[in-house]
Amino acid sequence: MNEQFDHEFDLLVFGAGMGGMSAALIAAHEGMSVLLCEKGGQVGGTTSTSAGSLWIPGAGAANPDEDIAQAKTYLDAETGNRGDRSLRDAFFESGRDAVAYLQDKTEVKLRPVGPHPDYHPDKPGWSMQGRALAPFPFDGRLLGKDFALVRPPIAPFMVLGGLMVGRDDIPHFLKPFRSLSSFTHVARILLRHGIDRLTRARGTRLIMGNALVARLLFSLRRKNVPLWTECGLVELIGDGAHIHGAIVEIKGERKRVRSRRGVVLATGGFSGSAALRAEWFAPREVNYTSAFSGNTGGGISSARAVGAATGESGGNPAFWFPVSVLRENGKETVFPHIILDRAKPGLIAVNSAGLRFTNEANSYHDFVEGMFRSHASTPSVPAHLICDCSFIRDYGIGLVHPGSSESTIARFVRLGYLRKADTLAELANAIGVPAKNLEWMVAEHNRFALSGKDEAFGKGSNALNRHNGDPANTPNPCLRPIAQPPYFSVAIHIADLGTSTGLRTDENARVLGASGAPIEGLYACGNDMNSIMAGAYPGPGTTLGPALVFAYRAVMHMRGR
Ligand SMILES: Cc1cc2nc3c(=O)[nH]c(=O)nc-3n(C[C@H](O)[C@H](O)[C@H](O)COP(=O)(O)OP(=O)(O)OC[C@H]3O[C@@H](n4cnc5c(N)ncnc54)[C@H](O)[C@@H]3O)c2cc1C
Repeated sequence: MNEQFDHEFDLLVFGAGMGGMSAALIAAHEGMSVLLCEKGGQVGGTTSTSAGSLWIPGAGAANPDEDIAQAKTYLDAETGNRGDRSLRDAFFESGRDAVAYLQDKTEVKLRPVGPHPDYHPDKPGWSMQGRALAPFPFDGRLLGKDFALVRPPIAPFMVLGGLMVGRDDIPHFLKPFRSLSSFTHVARILLRHGIDRLTRARGTRLIMGNALVARLLFSLRRKNVPLWTECGLVELIGDGAHIHGAIVEIKGERKRVRSRRGVVLATGGFSGSAALRAEWFAPREVNYTSAFSGNTGGGISSARAVGAATGESGGNPAFWFPVSVLRENGKETVFPHIILDRAKPGLIAVNSAGLRFTNEANSYHDFVEGMFRSHASTPSVPAHLICDCSFIRDYGIGLVHPGSSESTIARFVRLGYLRKADTLAELANAIGVPAKNLEWMVAEHNRFALSGKDEAFGKGSNALNRHNGDPANTPNPCLRPIAQPPYFSVAIHIADLGTSTGLRTDENARVLGASGAPIEGLYACGNDMNSIMAGAYPGPGTTLGPALVFAYRAVMHMRGR
């Protein structure tokens, strides 16, 4: 042991989310000694509260039929000339291998998700399905006492005190008596949950991002990888040419740790840093985050301190969610409007002029880009989702579940989350938009609903829109008149779901200095690495897919492969 150091490992990894846990796990399987340092008391970061989709076209055994050339065409069309093409090529080159590696050697088991379209059906090379992978559900009981280490999903994504409900479960939960299979599906989940709750604070049937993190943790434990929680990166040891360790703070005490092969920064980007948000987000009106607040840019700042460069964001320093905000008892609940309401028939979004400004059924990121564009000429943050009572009954809106009772709706109205009015003019007055405009807008929308063609913004005109609409609604699954009072609105703000600007790297995830030369021994992945997407959001899994692939490439580079 070098006397200057308290500990020594081949690899030091900072941040126990998708990027860091993957890097540590793969390195351990490659025979390296690894230390995984996590600043918080739990693992998972934003990954654990995510939907857990990974966009990795052609990912080996999970999805052997994918035509990578098509996927490349699509991503080229998405990114244009922006960003570094060599990194995207590296992503495609190693996607299959990275997934196959985990499938073969670890408990991180992934499957292709059924129809799960890329977000831009108009682009060449677009695909309806096959590029997004998801983790198989995981039984949290297998983790024993480590179950408590997994950061839970956000409260709005759980029901009945800690039961995770995924997109596939929702139809069964809404109509459990519709069929025998729905009934057994729901009964089995509820029974298991009831038993779980006798001994645990939440359910152990883990899906989506929570299953991903639990699978990573389970696999890391099997390889006996040391995981130090409450251990944050303080400072890198080395200079702009070479990093050979780091100073960490563990439970208040500082330690010097040597890294023989490398340091991987995977601290989740800067969503939780007011200073870095001000630096990169301004002048955009982004007042919330859906990402983990503990991601305060530690990796990026410490690398910048030794001369690391940051990358170009292609106009989007983050990936965006439209969110609504419930304030109750001094607490804020930020709800991301991902897929459940905006695309459904009978809802429009208007700006402060009471006018529609975008296709409401587009992806969350595109919807927010629509808000930004509109905001440049007309205040559009907040915007307002408008619907009628039949919409809430059938689909719910934000935190208000479908079929909510009168008293539940009244509670949300009382809390100011929902606005309710008997006429559109009254609703317009309540939210401060011109009544004439809102009435006209709804009348126009209702005309489109009858013809099935949204002449203004094309809601329901593409496969992504229709996928998230209501197939039972004709002629257009995303359009139906807003005509049954009372009317409702929910205010919509902008949050990031994760940052995309990060440390500039080469195609092996090596962090680059200002001159463009790699800083030896320093790697970044996950949201600490500048996104390869160059401001685009091509499809489901845009951050988790590259997080895994570049974690894999970083380790393989250290191994000299
Ligand atoms: C509701 C929601 C759904 C989403 N769904 C998807 C999806 O389906 N697919 C997709 O691709 N993306 C999705 N995202 C985005 C995605 O979850 C994040 O971009 C991704 O999880 C980031 O992974 P990461 O490994 O970089 O960081 P994280 O998973 O956030 O992990 C970072 C970890 O680093 C730790 N850390 C921070 N600072 C330090 C420090 N100084 N020292 C040591 N540790 C530190 C943190 O505590 C944290 O545990 C979603 C986001 C949200 C909010």
